[in-house]
Amino acid sequence: MDVYSSILFFVSISMMSRCDAENICSPNPNDSATIPSSCSSESPQSFVKRYAKCSLSPECGEGPYFVEEDLIRENIIEDREGIPLSLQFNMIDYRTCEPIPNAKFYLWQPDYAGIYSGFMDKPPIRRERMIPRDPRRFLRGTQISDSNGTVNFETLFPGHYRGRTPHIHFRIHLDDNVAHIGQVFFDEKIISQINSIPPYNQVKSRRMKNEEDGEFSYFNGEKSIIDLKPISATASMEQGFTGIMNVVIDPFHQSRLMWA
Ligand code: FE
Repeated sequence: MDVYSSILFFVSISMMSRCDAENICSPNPNDSATIPSSCSSESPQSFVKRYAKCSLSPECGEGPYFVEEDLIRENIIEDREGIPLSLQFNMIDYRTCEPIPNAKFYLWQPDYAGIYSGFMDKPPIRRERMIPRDPRRFLRGTQISDSNGTVNFETLFPGHYRGRTPHIHFRIHLDDNVAHIGQVFFDEKIISQINSIPPYNQVKSRRMKNEEDGEFSYFNGEKSIIDLKPISATASMEQGFTGIMNVVIDPFHQSRLMWA
């Protein structure tokens, strides 16, 4: 059996069992009601071709600092300092490989010093849903995806805080369903470079590397590293980066990764 036939055999078996993509971070074992009708009629060759480019993006833990408020805005920087990031997220339905319009995308992250708005006093972490303790909402925003499944944010490179590598959180809602909870991670080389310049180098606490971060390891974080590029060929690092991330989700999946 050649390599292609092996893949075809494996996928065909998978189709017979669940018609689902393999993803340990996005379990959906009771989802038989949402198996697409194409599973029974689509040719295996077509299935392989389509699903090969639409494997599910891994989910990742929500963390304690989500605030469910609809701050509809693209620029979430407010008064914070740091390296500018222009981020684009494209939401894709893994069952059809088509864009997902009208998805509500929440983004939240810490500032260069590892501080989340709403929790600026760094309260003790509780297992239940945490209520914001201050009125600030910097580095938080919500966008609705357009017909291309796209949302954009103007933000800053995140700092680190104790026990975590730098990351950005996001949640995707489709109507009332929380379909996906994820985190954006960054290449170690870029993190090191950025942490060597102000204001990031003012933070004295030890930075945890990606491979030391338990969530990064457990949730296949290497698959959620965004590819950052300088804003232009001649731009300095201080001028910022752009990044695009395709987030392939099952719109009918109900995430179990809410903090509480
Ligand atoms: Fe976090």
